[in-house]
Order: sequence, then C-alpha cells, then structure tokens
Amino acid sequence: MELEGLLEKLKLDHLQAQLDAVCEQAAAQELDYKTFLAEALRLEWQGRFQRGIEARLRQSRFPWNKTLEQFDFDFQPSLDRRQMRELAGLSFVERAHNVVILGPPGVGKTHLAVALGVKAVEAGYSVLFHSLESLMTRLNRAQHENRLEATLKQLTYPKLLILDELGYLPLSHTEASLFFRLIVRRYERGSLIVTSNKSFLDWGEVFNDQVLATAILDRLLHHATTLNIKGESYRLKEKRRAGLLGRPKPADETEPSRDEPEEVMPMTL
Ligand code: ADP
Ligand code: MG
Repeated sequence: MELEGLLEKLKLDHLQAQLDAVCEQAAAQELDYKTFLAEALRLEWQGRFQRGIEARLRQSRFPWNKTLEQFDFDFQPSLDRRQMRELAGLSFVERAHNVVILGPPGVGKTHLAVALGVKAVEAGYSVLFHSLESLMTRLNRAQHENRLEATLKQLTYPKLLILDELGYLPLSHTEASLFFRLIVRRYERGSLIVTSNKSFLDWGEVFNDQVLATAILDRLLHHATTLNIKGESYRLKEKRRAGLLGRPKPADETEPSRDEPEEVMPMTL
C-alpha cells in the first residue's frame, strides 16, 4: 500500500496534511529515522489534541470565550490574584472542589467562571456551562418527560459544571428540589463553579426555602473557595468611557480618595 493510503487507513489526518513539509524539513535537517518518526507522530498528536480542545470547547456551551489573561485585575482590587492563580492551576477540579463567585452585576463573575472553564478544557477536562435559567428549563423539561434520571446523569458527567447567575430568578419549590438533587449527585464527584449576585444570607429567599438552602450551601461550601467581588461594574466603566454616564466627580481636595464617588444613574445593566 502506498504511503498516502496507509496514512488514510490509519486516520493520520494531520500528518497526511503536512507530509511534504515534514519530509522536506527532515531532509534539510538530516534527521535520523527515530527522530523523524518522533517528529511525525508528535505532529499528528498535537493536531489531535488541538482538535479535542476545539470539540470540548463547543460541547462546553460557553456563552462567549474569555480568558484570565483578558481580565484586568487592577480594576478589581478586591480579587486576590494569588488565589486566582491558584484556581487557574485547576487542582480544585482534580479534587472535585467548588468555587463560588459572588458580587454585584458587571464585576466579571461570568468572565472569571468562563476563563476557569476554558483553562479546564485546555487541560483536558470535560466542562459544561449553564445559566441557572437554562439549567432549570432543562431539568423541568426532563421531569415532565419522565427522564430526569438520565438528565441528572448527563449533568453529573462533566468534571466541571458552571452554573451562572444564581439569584436573578427566584426558584419554585420544585425547582429548588431539583437543584438540590443535582448538588447531591455532584457532591465530592465533580466540581461546580456557581456565580451569584446574592450573598449566602439571601439564598433562603432564592430557593424559597431556608432548610433546603442550608442543605445546598452545606454541600456546596464543604470544599469550596469563595470569591467575593466588591468592586464597580466593568460595564459601567466602559459606558462611562463612552460618555454615556457622567464623569465621576473630582475627589475632594482636602481628602484625596481614589474611590470613584457613587453617582450611578438608575439604568438597566
Ligand atoms: P458579571 O457576570 O459579574 O455580571 P461579566 O463577567 O459578564 O460580569 O462582565 C461584564 C463584561 O465586562 C464582560 O464583557 C467582561 O468580559 C467584562 N469585564 C468585567 N470585569 C472585567 C475586568 N476586570 N477586566 C476585563 N474585562 C472585564
Ligand atoms: Mg454574569
């Protein structure tokens, strides 16, 4: 069988696509047989690895692609960079620990959750992103169609599950119970990143049930890192820069302050 045919049968697509270049390079560098073979196989492996990342990125259903490198930590001094670096090392995923990101709208909760998710995908983990709304739609539908068990299994499979925007919509009692079942399933098996605009004290209201909220928090926080972002909205900063909001008042001369005065106009974020 010819070389081309063998590459095709063995599905060495990446090597096949770059065969001429690899051979030319090997000739130019006068590589010995073993080194050449290693180079050729490395090229195939790299291509497959990259394709795997792209496939897992698609399966993760991130709303957009953001990285930690794109995050401006100077803008958000309440965030501990060392802690973020530690999380980016992904040992929390390995150990099935959780991350909870709390803070008001626009401070970068979703950005950080996605960025950690992208890191996890690049490291070879399976990741799934859901807004709380889409999660509830999926669970509700599964329950109505009598396939809740299968759906809970699917949601337990990803090594990292990101649940974004807990707290914007209050949950019904049935929804809160479904959420609890999911948390129980994943407990100590797979990691969760949960983002919320509500402090833990308000979770009783979110779940419409204080006892259930306590049971959920108990499992969620048993092995967890909580990031409490206290800063200003990055969206507002961008609007301000675009001139859509007034400039912050200059700091009082007798009492210099680097904090921007509160002069946010009522508006929908
Ligand atoms: P939240 O989820 O807390 O409401 P987002 O993560 O959606 O906020 O952030 C709003 C927008 O601002 C996004 O486009 C995000 O990428 C950007 N953003 C927020 N904080 C920062 C930051 N510190 N550096 C760079 N971009 C940021
Ligand atoms: Mg968000």
